[in-house]
Amino acid sequence: MLELTLEQISMGQTAVDKPAALQLLADHLVSDGLVADGYLAGLQAREAQGSTFLGQGIAIPHGTPQTRDLVFTTGVRLMQFPEGVDWGDGQIVYLAIGIAAKSDEHLRLLQLLTRALGETDLGEALRRASSAEALLKLLQGAAQELALDAQMIGLGVAADDFDELVWRGARLLRQADCVGSGFAAMLQQVEALPLGDGLWWLHSEQAVKRPGLAFVTPHKPLRYLDQPLNGLFCLASLGEAHQALLERLCALLIEGRGHELCRATSTRAVLEALGGEVPADWPSARIGLANAQGLHARPAKILAQLAKQFEGEIRLRIVDSPENPVSAKSLSKLLGLGAHRGQVLEFIAEPSIAADALPALLAAVEEGLGEEIEPLPLAVAVVEEVLEAPAPVQAPIAGAVIQGIAAAPGIAAGPAHLHVQREIDYPLRGETPVFERERLHKALVEVREDIDGLIQRSKAKAIREIFVTHQEMLDDPELTDDVDNRLKQGESAAAAWMSVIEAAARQQESLHDALLAERAADLRDVGRRVLAQLCGIETPHEPEEPYILVMDEVGPSDVARLDPARVAGILTARGGATAHSAIVARALGIPAVVGAGEAVLLLDSGCPLLIDGQRGHLTVAPAADALRRALEERDSRAARLQAAAARRLEPAVTRDGHAVEVFANIGESAGIAAVVDQGAEGVGLLRTELIFMAHQQAPDEATQEAEYRRVLDGLAGRPLVVRTLDVGGDKPLPYWPIAKEENPFLGVRGIRLTLQRPQVMESQLRALLRGADNRPLRIMFPMVGGVEEWRQARDMTERLRQEIPVADLQLGIMIEVPSAALLAPVLAREVDFFSIGTNDLTQYTLAIDRGHPTLSGQADGLHPAVLQLIDITVRAAHAHGKWVGICGELAADPVAVPLLVGLGVDELSVSARSIAEVKAGVRELTLADAQALAQQALIQGTAAQVRALVENA
Ligand code: PEP
Ligand code: MG
Repeated sequence: MLELTLEQISMGQTAVDKPAALQLLADHLVSDGLVADGYLAGLQAREAQGSTFLGQGIAIPHGTPQTRDLVFTTGVRLMQFPEGVDWGDGQIVYLAIGIAAKSDEHLRLLQLLTRALGETDLGEALRRASSAEALLKLLQGAAQELALDAQMIGLGVAADDFDELVWRGARLLRQADCVGSGFAAMLQQVEALPLGDGLWWLHSEQAVKRPGLAFVTPHKPLRYLDQPLNGLFCLASLGEAHQALLERLCALLIEGRGHELCRATSTRAVLEALGGEVPADWPSARIGLANAQGLHARPAKILAQLAKQFEGEIRLRIVDSPENPVSAKSLSKLLGLGAHRGQVLEFIAEPSIAADALPALLAAVEEGLGEEIEPLPLAVAVVEEVLEAPAPVQAPIAGAVIQGIAAAPGIAAGPAHLHVQREIDYPLRGETPVFERERLHKALVEVREDIDGLIQRSKAKAIREIFVTHQEMLDDPELTDDVDNRLKQGESAAAAWMSVIEAAARQQESLHDALLAERAADLRDVGRRVLAQLCGIETPHEPEEPYILVMDEVGPSDVARLDPARVAGILTARGGATAHSAIVARALGIPAVVGAGEAVLLLDSGCPLLIDGQRGHLTVAPAADALRRALEERDSRAARLQAAAARRLEPAVTRDGHAVEVFANIGESAGIAAVVDQGAEGVGLLRTELIFMAHQQAPDEATQEAEYRRVLDGLAGRPLVVRTLDVGGDKPLPYWPIAKEENPFLGVRGIRLTLQRPQVMESQLRALLRGADNRPLRIMFPMVGGVEEWRQARDMTERLRQEIPVADLQLGIMIEVPSAALLAPVLAREVDFFSIGTNDLTQYTLAIDRGHPTLSGQADGLHPAVLQLIDITVRAAHAHGKWVGICGELAADPVAVPLLVGLGVDELSVSARSIAEVKAGVRELTLADAQALAQQALIQGTAAQVRALVENA
């Protein structure tokens, strides 16, 4: 990257005219070995195309693309011409910066320089600079722009005194990344300046990252030092960036308009008065920049000239950059953006000119701004017009029906119970230490009582243990000592408590141990409870009646902690149907709609909701008759399920006598008797990772053996299909750190991981073989992608089997990766069975992350491409006399059952709750019809067509 250094600067040069100056520069670049002879021609040619005068006495001569080959090393040389050189059109240059660049590395330099160009009288200062150091300082020391936009204005904020208001201002600066964490404390120590009209000014240079100004007004009249306190400016000061603003503010005060700021009801009014960054609710348009060297001087000049033809403001920003938009009419500002090829530009124009200006600007950029351009790849070449500002997310209105993703079947109605963490504001400074200590003490007592209640109510041991840990944290003497020290220094109870909790949590995290990192999350959780108590924020109490839990996203452990008796349904803003959280919801029998969009987080707690987990619908405050119909449907479904449940223990045989086994998916031995009672003819998938996850450290061989033995005991001779440890991807094991991966789903997961840690796998296999005691045991390996992995896993098991003989053992693999399905004809010769994991198979076939917040709704296992892979697998297996099961979520989908049976699948393994329904579904079919339907499905184009085919059959 190009940087400016002292060695590059030649002071006190003279040149009679521009050609002489260019000659001097070229000689210098050649003698310093940056370019080859002949580069002068490039400099001259470039000037002939258009002057490189930049403004403020600076020119940036550089070569053309044709002379780029003459550049040996990218670099710059600066020459000061105190007497000035006429660069044409009466523009006098005091500093010429000769650039030798192979590509667009000089854009960074231009960006730096153009900051300097914003300075007044820089040209004169450059002329007068008496040393290279002084000149460099002028170029580098240029102030950054003052950040002042809508996010930095807080009107009517809750503050009871000056200190709180200061803290609010400092916080806005922190949120805008203008200052570091110590800034608020710095501001508290400086003396505030009264500006009149109840306005106050505070500034500090400490802990400042970039200059910025925040303005806050209190929600009620306040006084400070016996004067009104109506508004406060907090300046994060760096260099002279605030100079222009200060001048404007002074003028405003002299004109007697200070009250406009204090009484402003919109941030826009404040920004307009102060000349800040007015929020862009103007029409805008975006386009990818295709110029090879980015927005360098020449195209920028053309752009600025075009923008100037419109009488009104036009701004430009780079999408996804934190920088504020700049005027598209200012060449120096455009260069200051440093836009590269491939970046997306956004033009924002005043409404009166937008309709003409935006299309013209887009067309000019698209045509290359006077340069030949190579079109961008499609993904970047957006030419997108947003003639209206995007609508902010709004709470859904009563009666709204929102389509989310069907995640767990069933209809549920109840009041919304929002579980969304909101920021809690608190004062930094407290009253007296004694007073604050007392407040904290009271809050701790309250929280302890709350947690006690939770412990009493929790039925699950794992949940109780979590809350007991929280109690212990509250009682930790180290925490309370640290808090006390802070209280003595005048901090508020909330500030002292939160600093200590945060420091302790960070310390836990820094140890890079997954278990301790979890403890950090618990610390923050309990810390927040106390903070909420201190600030009088009511944690919404769980409604008495069963409610619909509304969350942003649920993790499997969140769902596992739920009490199904209280939670009627789950609604999330993000997430997908085959995410593990959805699987847990299904296992608990809680209807769930996921991925319903951000707006659901704005619902009021208590608002009546109706969710249909089969269709993925949410109805907000449903009309009485819609609610009645839905509840009738719920009841008739319940009646159907009841009828199915009555026959749950009978086999599933089609009307023409074809039997399909229906097994259960489980994650632990507990409840195996209930699973059998629900009609399971065996276990088709024991997810052993859930057993590992339920322990604080890897369970030893004896613990595992006991667990597997319990499952086999409960099955009383029915087969058990066990999957060896399947972690990695979205299923981390807290105590088994896995190197961070860019794409964990495509990384070391499943069999790949366990083969890398053979001792873990061997110990699991031994535990399984020992626990079998000659009962029917089937072991399968997850995420097998090819023959090698299968053979390694098989050989390891066979070796151990020599030590621990088992009479009824079959070895198979899960088909979850398309390569395994396509290789099924080869694998079928060697395995005893296949079990198709349609959750992952769908994910990898359709290239859609199964938990993707917006796409996972399209990851439908009934996609014909997935059905084709199932078909290949079944045909291959049957050709070799082997059996095939399905243990992914698709097996429980009532629409999928006829197709899976028709494709010849021998066993369907579903969560215990679905067994009766799946069996009933099989009993409605004839094999011949199902086969014909499956053949039709294979030739459809989309999952929707397949669903329609079945529903209309
Ligand atoms: C599957 O991928 O379909 C499967 C059963 O495994 P899991 O959902 O546990 O990844
Ligand atoms: Mg899987």
